[in-house]
Amino acid sequence: MRIEFDRDTCIGMFQCVAEWGDGFEQDADAGKAILVEGEEVEEDVFAREIPEDAELDAKFAARSCPVDAIAVYDDDGEQIV
Ligand code: SF4
Repeated sequence: MRIEFDRDTCIGMFQCVAEWGDGFEQDADAGKAILVEGEEVEEDVFAREIPEDAELDAKFAARSCPVDAIAVYDDDGEQIV
């Protein structure tokens, strides 16, 4: 399972940090989240694999984002959140 974070869309409400504290951190100065260990796959878009034991939290993080800045994909590349 893979997570993608669109930093440009993020408005810094930090619900993602509350839902998946190991996956997201606050960049309070920028007013943006940081996807921990995220790799920049295009400008201001970061992605990483989700550890198996964090899949539930990652999905909650994606669902909690008010501006849909987070997407979760299964191993076939289908978007599930
Ligand atoms: S919940 Fe969405 S808008 Fe809020 S910090 Fe996380 S990614 Fe950004």
